[in-house]
Amino acid sequence: MSITENLQQITSSIPATITLVAVSKTKPVSDIQKAYNAGHRVFGENKVQEMEAKWKELPEDIQWHMIGHVQRNKVKYMAPFVSLIHSVDSPRLLKEINKQGKKNNRLIDCLLQLRIAEEDTKFGMTEAAITALLASEETKNFQHVNIKGLMGMATFTEDTSQLTREFQKLKSFYDSLKQTQQFSVLSMGMSGDYQLAIQNGSNMIRVGSAIFGERNY
Ligand SMILES: *Cc1c(COP(=O)(O)O)cnc(C)c1O
Repeated sequence: MSITENLQQITSSIPATITLVAVSKTKPVSDIQKAYNAGHRVFGENKVQEMEAKWKELPEDIQWHMIGHVQRNKVKYMAPFVSLIHSVDSPRLLKEINKQGKKNNRLIDCLLQLRIAEEDTKFGMTEAAITALLASEETKNFQHVNIKGLMGMATFTEDTSQLTREFQKLKSFYDSLKQTQQFSVLSMGMSGDYQLAIQNGSNMIRVGSAIFGERNY
């Protein structure tokens, strides 16, 4: 199926309240343009400089989401335009985003990444680290970041019960934080598991290969 058909198929199979982030990492600008022509506006990338290059070439009304691990020295390249950073995984990164937001006179929307995978993964914070970050005076005083919710990446597995456990862990932590935070975004679910993620409370899914086809690295 074509990119347009894939997009239509996915969009029609999910509730309208779910935000679909089309993950275009490694894919050429021509593929993104096809999805754009089909009406799609929200794209996700995992490398700052690749996203910046695509931003320069493509229409201005695209919302660019950063979904991958970010090195602090790269924040400056996306601060002028990034729409949502899903992958805030340290206090020092959040501080740098606030600093670059100030330089660009912007309020930058962010999600905090919780480590939910039972497999060993490098990125994401523990619940305790996120709780401490949200409680700190420094975070509360940031004028240029807006923390809108949480993101998580489940284990790469087809084991539905394990995936369900991981999604439920993220959802229940999200719900507990919502009692004190103005949270509205829960980013979980990818090509292989987005239906399950939605059943478990996701309202933002990040789908790459099911739209653009397999990636060749
Ligand atoms: C690549 C990537 C995705 C999309 O993966 P697919 O399996 O191709 O849908 C989603 N989230 C993150 C963080 C990614 O790096």
